[in-house]
Amino acid sequence: MIKVTNLSKHFGDNVVLRQIDLNIKEGETTVIIGPSGTGKSTLLRCLNFLEQPTSATITIDDLVVDASTATKKQITALRKKTAFVFQNYALFANKTALENITEGLIIVRGKSAEVAKQEALTILKSIGLTDKQDSYPSALSGGQQQRIGIARAMAAQSKVILFDEPTSALDPEWVGEVLTLMRRLAKQKQTMLIVTHEMQFAKEIADRVIFMDQGQIVEQGSADMIFNNPQDPRTRTFLQRVN
Ligand code: ADP
Ligand code: MG
Repeated sequence: MIKVTNLSKHFGDNVVLRQIDLNIKEGETTVIIGPSGTGKSTLLRCLNFLEQPTSATITIDDLVVDASTATKKQITALRKKTAFVFQNYALFANKTALENITEGLIIVRGKSAEVAKQEALTILKSIGLTDKQDSYPSALSGGQQQRIGIARAMAAQSKVILFDEPTSALDPEWVGEVLTLMRRLAKQKQTMLIVTHEMQFAKEIADRVIFMDQGQIVEQGSADMIFNNPQDPRTRTFLQRVN
């Protein structure tokens, strides 16, 4: 359903991603693991053109975007199909929890303020944060802020949600509630691509695990294959180090 071919990204002389091919199936949770500095964040950012890929063809449904010819209109269409959850939440500090969710619905999707509000309230209720709708981010815990970040992505009703280490900025006490929400999305067959250092969580939630090293996909397979029977020495070394 999502097909990426020949994705490369150079920052000057630094080749960060090398001709990556990637397929993501509808309804699946794909987890990307790998050492720091290996290009995991850059890969996610290239998928919705937060970074302009040096080369890539990205296909989602009937939308085909080639990095060398991408128009503004195509990039906007691509962004509507891909929601992003950031490590540092990236909420608007001067907007309430509710407004953080409705903003994109109104501006990007062209929904009326009333419709956007109703949709946002439905999601807030489903994640147990109705009572925080009028709170500003500074009045929320890290876990609540990240759940609002995820609620914003849910509201967008994108094809895929891209998560870049969604729990790594959190104090340990807030990690659980964020992982619980992500588990729920996986159960609901929300298509997700998740970069995480939470190996236990990855094992449990992933339909497929991708191990990346130095800008390339080294191997991929079921969680059982990658964690219990890795084929490549680089994967083994990495897993020994993190376990
Ligand atoms: P990871 O998420 O796996 O830790 P990143 O994608 O953040 O890795 O970074 C991969 C490489 O790309 C690093 O060498 C990093 O310094 C470089 N890099 C990332 N973003 C930029 C940027 N905006 N400008 C220059 N170099 C960058
Ligand atoms: Mg990163």
